[in-house]
Amino acid sequence: MMKGFERIAIVPGSFDPITYGHIDIIERTAYIFDRVIVGVASNPEKKALFTLDERVKFIKEVFGESERISVKSYNKLLTDFAVENNAKIIVRGLRAVSDFEREFQIAQFIRKLNPTLEVLFLMSSPEYMYLSSSAVKEIAEFGGCLKGLVPANVEKALIARFRKTGR
Ligand code: ADP
Repeated sequence: MMKGFERIAIVPGSFDPITYGHIDIIERTAYIFDRVIVGVASNPEKKALFTLDERVKFIKEVFGESERISVKSYNKLLTDFAVENNAKIIVRGLRAVSDFEREFQIAQFIRKLNPTLEVLFLMSSPEYMYLSSSAVKEIAEFGGCLKGLVPANVEKALIARFRKTGR
């Protein structure tokens, strides 16, 4: 496909850390579009467990050298990040009803900031409907089993992180 005609989608988030719920959304997005850019937000106002570089590294380890799925961090408006990367579509995952209100608000702001961008929602797969990064961190903090929730590299990092803090 000629480069200028590629359909590029951004899947943004804080990915602190990436879970199988995110991976499912990213893979399904890659099935629909030519290229996917996973955008890792630096979100300095949100207190992250992992650094921006760690969060990017985990995702890169998951998708390897995939030509169609790339990972980039950003510290600016999502709409500017999308334009810089020639992406016209922003994909978000939607879990239980509780996500809707916030996602609706985000989508309205994106539309206001740049009406040429379209925000697309993919429904969470049923097995990941209740999976979130914050739940995973809580489970890890108290030594619960993380199998089926996060990939092995993330599981290892979570265990190491909480061992270090002595919990
Ligand atoms: P935020 O920091 O804005 O909550 P996250 O980094 O947690 O965003 O997630 C990024 C995107 O992935 C969001 O669109 C979120 O709705 C989606 N997402 C997170 N967990 C899941 C899941 N289990 N199933 C489907 N989508 C998910």
